[in-house]
Amino acid sequence: MKLCSVASGSSGNCIFAGTDSTSLLIDTGISGKRIEEGLNEIGHTTKETDGILVTHEHSDHISGLGVISRRYGIPIYATRGTWKAILNCKSIGEIPEGLFREIEPDQDFTIGDITISPVSISHDAAMPTAFVLRQGKKSMAVMTDLGKFDPYIIEKLQHLDVLLLEANHDVHMLQVGTYPYYLKQRILGDKGHLSNELSGQLLSEVLHDGFKGVILGHLSKENNYERLAYETVRLEIDLADNQYRAKDFPIHVAKRDTVSDIIEF
Ligand SMILES: [Zn+2]
Ligand SMILES: [Zn+2]
Repeated sequence: MKLCSVASGSSGNCIFAGTDSTSLLIDTGISGKRIEEGLNEIGHTTKETDGILVTHEHSDHISGLGVISRRYGIPIYATRGTWKAILNCKSIGEIPEGLFREIEPDQDFTIGDITISPVSISHDAAMPTAFVLRQGKKSMAVMTDLGKFDPYIIEKLQHLDVLLLEANHDVHMLQVGTYPYYLKQRILGDKGHLSNELSGQLLSEVLHDGFKGVILGHLSKENNYERLAYETVRLEIDLADNQYRAKDFPIHVAKRDTVSDIIEF
């Protein structure tokens, strides 16, 4: 399987996930041009994409969806709640209704040789989901835009090979930063985003002997930076009450504006 962040962060998200025969995009929250260029960089094209999985309707996840879907007619997989909310986003323009494929949390579906499990997440959107993807014995997940995690989330992320996990903000930077009060409360709340600390704590709950690596993603531009996310998550893992240490596996940090290294396993 292959996983690559084309863009990840509060200003736009687009993740490539695939196998030798199936190519998927998870969210298209950057321009059509950037998606095309990003995919070209890793030897793919938008045209050959077999499906677009949409986590939720926030603009940093769908801003390119109208352009891409109109141009290439790629099926769009989303919950009914997310789909309805997308249709209400006038800014992305017309989306052909016939491209919609309804999905539901905890109901597996298949695209090509990839089986996908939508996972319900706690976020201030209509009906948001994260995704676990499997091909045979291989598996990975993209888990961003969640304000909290619980035993349900931990269970869904067990035994993965690779995980792209949100490390959105440093709580202190957010608290002393320039965001208005209501926005700080939103981000810190149960339906907001995972802090670096929570990200490290969640990761600690899902480590296992076969774990091949994590990509930290959806970093806030204002309230985080790569080194801080990386070091905070490392520290949480080393402090956690299990036998794993941060040095045991690779920790990558997804780039906001450039294509990250492709992870293949
Ligand atoms: Zn969101
Ligand atoms: Zn987001």
